[in-house]
Amino acid sequence: MKLDVTQVLNGRLNTMPFSYRFSPKTADLPEDAVELPEELEIPEDGILVEGEITSVGGYLRLTAQITADYVIPCARCLDPIHETMEFDMERTVRSGAAVEAVFTDDDEEWDGVLEDVLYLNDSRVSPDADILEQIVLELPMVSLCSADCKGLCPHCGKKIADGCGCGEKEAAKKTVDPRMAKLQVLLDQMKAEENGEAGEEN
Ligand SMILES: [Zn+2]
Ligand SMILES: [Zn+2]
Repeated sequence: MKLDVTQVLNGRLNTMPFSYRFSPKTADLPEDAVELPEELEIPEDGILVEGEITSVGGYLRLTAQITADYVIPCARCLDPIHETMEFDMERTVRSGAAVEAVFTDDDEEWDGVLEDVLYLNDSRVSPDADILEQIVLELPMVSLCSADCKGLCPHCGKKIADGCGCGEKEAAKKTVDPRMAKLQVLLDQMKAEENGEAGEEN
């Protein structure tokens, strides 16, 4: 969204509140905007931006609270997880000319991009690209549908939680052979009898 800050620039307003919703599809982005991970899905109007632009001693400050709904697959079972993240954003809003004035030849390393600065373009400013970038940074390293998600069965590829049955077949193989089980019963009986005899002797 391009926010028109003319009213704050010309001093008619000291603070300009704003609120809008967007999604990556409707975002106002430069060509070099960050690419979102393929597995990340943000529903239509899934990002809510509420904030204000304030004039502070000759420059503009943008502050905003962002609430973003997103869908991401569980890292183990690939089931879609619906999540919401919240974060704050603060940016200084400057015109390109002002930035050039601040950064003279003092810093030869400067690559022309300032962190935490949004540039005015025709009295408008767009926080969308920075918001999407921050969403990528805020994503958890691993998303799980539940902490004890058992994931997918290595044998059949289905969700273990759905009861594919492979686990039980494996477990069945490991249980004692029925013939061995009978032998075990006999052994137990013999032991019991021995103990019983020993008891009689005492
Ligand atoms: Zn899962
Ligand atoms: Zn299975």
